[in-house]
Amino acid sequence: MKIFKKSFTQQEAIPESAIEDAVEVLRTGRLHRYNAIEGEQTPTELLELEFAEYLGVPYCLAVTSGGYALQIAMRAAGVEAGDRILCNAFTLAPVPGAIHNTGAVPVLVEANEDYCIDLDDLETKAKDSDAKFFMLSHMRGHIADMDRIMEICDTYNIFLIEDCAHTMGAKWNGKNSGTFGDIACFSNQTYKHINSGEGGFLTTTDPEIMAKAIMYSGSYMLFDRHLAAPPVEVFEQIRFETPNFSGRMDNLRAAILRPQLKDIQRQCERWNERYYVLEAGFKKSDAIHIPERPEKEQFVASSIQFSVLDFDRNQIAMLQSKCAERGVMLKWFGGAEPTGYTSRYDSWKYIDDMPKLKKTEEILETLMDMRIPLTFNLDDCQLIAEIVVEEANAIAE
Ligand SMILES: *Cc1c(COP(=O)(O)O)cnc(C)c1O
Repeated sequence: MKIFKKSFTQQEAIPESAIEDAVEVLRTGRLHRYNAIEGEQTPTELLELEFAEYLGVPYCLAVTSGGYALQIAMRAAGVEAGDRILCNAFTLAPVPGAIHNTGAVPVLVEANEDYCIDLDDLETKAKDSDAKFFMLSHMRGHIADMDRIMEICDTYNIFLIEDCAHTMGAKWNGKNSGTFGDIACFSNQTYKHINSGEGGFLTTTDPEIMAKAIMYSGSYMLFDRHLAAPPVEVFEQIRFETPNFSGRMDNLRAAILRPQLKDIQRQCERWNERYYVLEAGFKKSDAIHIPERPEKEQFVASSIQFSVLDFDRNQIAMLQSKCAERGVMLKWFGGAEPTGYTSRYDSWKYIDDMPKLKKTEEILETLMDMRIPLTFNLDDCQLIAEIVVEEANAIAE
């Protein structure tokens, strides 16, 4: 019986050039983003400029984490305590957490069979709730029909924040993920597409929003020390009216990220090469269902999802443990107890009046998920698919 031996949590090493740049920062001792010598542009300022250029937007702010970016995004958008915010029921815990942190209340929207947000439920809730904000997670890299989402936001005058934690480098119909909404947030945490351990970006085309976000992030009165920011006049009043919620990026992490950003296109291609091997392999089992992805969705598959539609809970638990015995780690979003990074919406007990989301539960009930670290090669992916298919078929019989 074949066994897979590599770790599902082992990412690639940080590139040598990034290590050299990081060591250089350490040698200077100037790790704080505003600690520069006369005329020096710090790695953090340059990283913001480079990410803004990469995405094709004028403004970018680097911060401590993706979750922090989400929270600051809502505050800069004018979210106040008690406001209602549409968001995916199928997302990661930092999303409802960030909403809760602002004192706002999530209005959870169902997931659909394609693992995206359900657009009919979104439309209904946009119409029937008084939510003026929408936090859209491109959860696990699945991009919902952005044309229809923009229509819904226009019709109901909804402010859109995109959570692009899994879509850095992805596009919808040729347009970068993160350039549809009023604000976009990215994560540079180890399991996302560039890795500084922790970190995040907030991007926008709106000068006032960026000015507020910069002040919130803890710029003190050093807001003029940003290269992907609006002119200082925009800060005239905002600098007095915006509290400091200290959450800055530092030069060490910026130095680690800059060379990775230069290479992101290639990395995205490598993820997808691995995805296609896994997808083709998984499709050899009738027990495994993988939804067709729309042509307009140019995804980056740093993970893969599939459904075992005909399996009951016991069979799914069995699949998970049989695969684990052979070294293949599958996550199950339908598990009753939250484990590791996964938690189902009904475990966020701090949300009052939680509705029952039947469709989401039904989708998650059979939904499996697997990380695709770039330390796996194509042969590894082939072997993983073989193991999962063998085990799934054995259980199905
Ligand atoms: C990782 C993640 C975040 C938050 O990122 P952190 O940098 O870990 O705070 C937000 N949304 C989704 C969907 C994520 O997967």
